[in-house]
Amino acid sequence: MSALAFPALTPAAPLAPSSGLSRIPPALVDGLGREIRYLRLSVTDRCDFRCVYCMAEHMTFLPRAQVLSLEEIFRVARIFSEQGVRKFRLTGGEPLVRKGIVGLCRQIAQLPALQLRDEAGRLGEVVLTTNGSQLGHLARPLAEAGVSRLNISLDSLDPALFRALTRTGDLAQVLNGIEAAQDAGFSRLKLNTVVMKGRNDHEIPDLVAFAIARGLDITFIEEMPLGEVGRARGESLMTSDEVREQIARRYTLQDTSEQSGGPARYVRVQGHPNTRIGFISPHSHNFCGSCNRVRLTAEGRLLLCLGQEHSLDVRGLLRESASDTPVLEAIQRALHHKPAGHTFSATGEVQIVRFMNASGG
Ligand code: SAM
Ligand code: SF4
Repeated sequence: MSALAFPALTPAAPLAPSSGLSRIPPALVDGLGREIRYLRLSVTDRCDFRCVYCMAEHMTFLPRAQVLSLEEIFRVARIFSEQGVRKFRLTGGEPLVRKGIVGLCRQIAQLPALQLRDEAGRLGEVVLTTNGSQLGHLARPLAEAGVSRLNISLDSLDPALFRALTRTGDLAQVLNGIEAAQDAGFSRLKLNTVVMKGRNDHEIPDLVAFAIARGLDITFIEEMPLGEVGRARGESLMTSDEVREQIARRYTLQDTSEQSGGPARYVRVQGHPNTRIGFISPHSHNFCGSCNRVRLTAEGRLLLCLGQEHSLDVRGLLRESASDTPVLEAIQRALHHKPAGHTFSATGEVQIVRFMNASGG
């Protein structure tokens, strides 16, 4: 991954004080005028699963010294919170295999800027994406630490297929984790399903029924060509429109303009008010024009777009300077180079060599 040399631009806005904030700081703005209100933090590239669309079977993970410490991750979160970022998603790799994750969530949730309400009365929030394997024992501590919502990946309800798609995962353990999350008091839980034609597309209606029976949201994601996973991706690409057609054979769907601050578009299911169905469609419905997010990789690169290589070495800056000012100035300059959008092709050809677990999916 290349670090671009970002030219100096206008002088940086001063850092907001980390306490005593009385109003939400103005947003960071990228070179195309898009406000950045959302930071995804990959806290590790490691994982207990090896999902077929995310990783190769035999992965080499980052040496520990190259991974940001929890203190460094928190420092970046604090700097962004002082620049008007309202939503932090912890992800990975599998965030719940990182030791100290609950404490990190608590620290971020307590940032002063997240305690302020926006014009719609909403607080800032800390959310997390997980494969669910550790939720049996971590769901409650995460909720108590201030994590408000979880996304839980679930690609199949068939134990053998689940094992095949995750290569190591145990469905019963994940279902137990989902139950623990339901009991823990999160404001919202959402399932994430990557659909692959010929692998798990026949389970779409059953996955929707599973979500409805439990009052969960569910989002179907088009597979993205990130990293060489040892099989062609294009053949298995199932578009969101095809997924929707399948669901519409069993349920009556109603379009909505609801947003959760991310890239998903939502529909409602007639007669089932507690479940929304989302579609993340990087191929068929490009969402880049309204992109409000950037990502910090586990090794401390600020990734300006999931589908491009533009990035800034934040780890180097953090380790060079005890002052936040040079870090923030570099971030502001880098944001002027946030690409207009990804350029994924639907053929499944790999255009980005980095794997999803390294990007913070
Ligand atoms: N380990 C956690 C999990 O699986 O939920 C968090 C990290 S994972 C990289 C985040 C999300 O990215 C998951 O919902 C996963 O299904 C999705 N994902 C991974 N690789 C993908 C790909 N190539 N295309 C689309 N989605 C992908
Ligand atoms: Fe692990 Fe999540 Fe990637 Fe699956 S999608 S291998 S659970 S990081």
